Amino acid sequence: MIDARMVEGRILPVPDPISEPYWTATTRGELLIQYCSACDRFEFYPRPFCRQCAGELTWRPASGRGTVYSFTVVRQSRTPPFDQLVPYVVALVDLDEGPRMMTNIVDCDADSVAIGQRVAVDFAEEVEGVALPFFHPIEQSLS
Ligand SMILES: [Zn+2]
Repeated sequence: MIDARMVEGRILPVPDPISEPYWTATTRGELLIQYCSACDRFEFYPRPFCRQCAGELTWRPASGRGTVYSFTVVRQSRTPPFDQLVPYVVALVDLDEGPRMMTNIVDCDADSVAIGQRVAVDFAEEVEGVALPFFHPIEQSLS
């Protein structure tokens, strides 16, 4: 089992006016991503306006599900606190809504993670007003 969640010494994100709704939602256990109604597409990471049309973005709840696009298993680290976490998985997850997100895959054997693996979000316990999103494997859907 791996658990790359909150450990003492982990550098936490500092919410700014643009990302504040995202980080407030994670403390409630909710994954919000931005949506452009003009382009009918989602954006991640939080931005002041749409990358395609420069239009306004609104916040929408994401399904919290996605697919591993790529990943690496970190087996050695001399950098605290990550030296306590090895081995851990750093992954790019394609959210079902479209955006690609860098995250950790947790609650599984690092060697069991695979490209194409279905994953779902979970949130680390809030520390200093921030809760980080992590993903864990879920059953493959037949539908
Ligand atoms: Zn747009």
